[in-house]
Amino acid sequence: MTRRGVLIGCGFFARNHMLAWRDLPDVTIVAVCDLDPAKAAAFSEEFGARAYGDAAQMLKEVRPDFADIATTVSSHRSLVELAAGHGCAVICQKPFAENLIDADAMVDACKHAGVELLIHENFRWQAPIRRIGELIDSGAIGQPQFLRLNFRHAFDIYANQPYLAQVEDLALSDVGLHLFDVARRLFGEVIRISCETQRLNPNVTGQDAFLAQMRHANGAVASVECSFFSHYAPDRFVQTLALVEGDEGSIELGDGYRLWVHRQGECLEEVVEPPVPSWGARPWNLVQDSVIAFQQHVLDVLAGRAKPQPSGADNLETLRLTFAAVQSARNGGRQVKLAAS
Ligand code: NAD
Repeated sequence: MTRRGVLIGCGFFARNHMLAWRDLPDVTIVAVCDLDPAKAAAFSEEFGARAYGDAAQMLKEVRPDFADIATTVSSHRSLVELAAGHGCAVICQKPFAENLIDADAMVDACKHAGVELLIHENFRWQAPIRRIGELIDSGAIGQPQFLRLNFRHAFDIYANQPYLAQVEDLALSDVGLHLFDVARRLFGEVIRISCETQRLNPNVTGQDAFLAQMRHANGAVASVECSFFSHYAPDRFVQTLALVEGDEGSIELGDGYRLWVHRQGECLEEVVEPPVPSWGARPWNLVQDSVIAFQQHVLDVLAGRAKPQPSGADNLETLRLTFAAVQSARNGGRQVKLAAS
């Protein structure tokens, strides 16, 4: 059965969505929509989908199986509610919502409409993160006790996404929530967090670096480190480096996709670089492959073969953690407790 989807928002990152959908079997994007007619027309021409300027009209006429929302956050609530009202499954890009009230309302709207809501959290679908998850789940390092996630670079992200230069809580809201989602996927719920932010790049308005310290419900601790103004040669964008320790072993994920598993007095090395898609290129293959993996997962969910990873309800907790980090940073790094504690 071929699923019929529509795309809302034909901007910078949506191109990865469209290229990945085109690679996947049993799915077609039949229509695309953007407030900017030129952007919708360009995608329509490249991908052979009908172009619209109004999402409501597109949903009414096309009646798709799912809507893939790739707009920026301020439009997410209205578009998720609109798509749910048309009875189709909904995929929403991160950040899921601007606040927890909106996120709650979006989860409720999809629940009442009886449709799936998935959040496009592709970091947890990156090949190295999936491998670390498999190793932890298989008991390779025993009981998790320490996690370090490190995403530090100086790549010019503002060239493709100029709006980022004006975002106040930039590092936390753009990449922090991806890293918090990864931490929750690997180590479970967080019960308290403290966070310091920095404004490093003089050309941006917001806080472009943060350091968060967290306690998980299972007793493990985590350090999440992120900066958009840290200089390395070669630059490490788009890699997340990691250190994961358990009571029986450790995992290190280093630069260049090298992964070491230390256990029983031995160290085994693996290379966990994902393939380069036919339409992709290094170093973006990490991201491109993760979009394909996430969107294949969406098809598995729609076919009843998998549970959403993550669902809107799950991602609401990642958002809660992100806002707790913002609150901590604004209060001089004071610890914030989460409801799970
Ligand atoms: P963008 O500004 O390039 O594209 C957004 C597009 O949505 C624009 O063309 C805009 O005209 C359109 N749009 C806005 N409201 C609309 C509406 N109501 N109906 C139809 N079209 C509408 O933005 P971008 O950089 O592609 O980012 C989009 C989203 O993707 C953001 O939320 C961003 O955080 C996220 N993103 C995710 C990743 C990732 O790795 N998961 C990477 C980059 C960006």
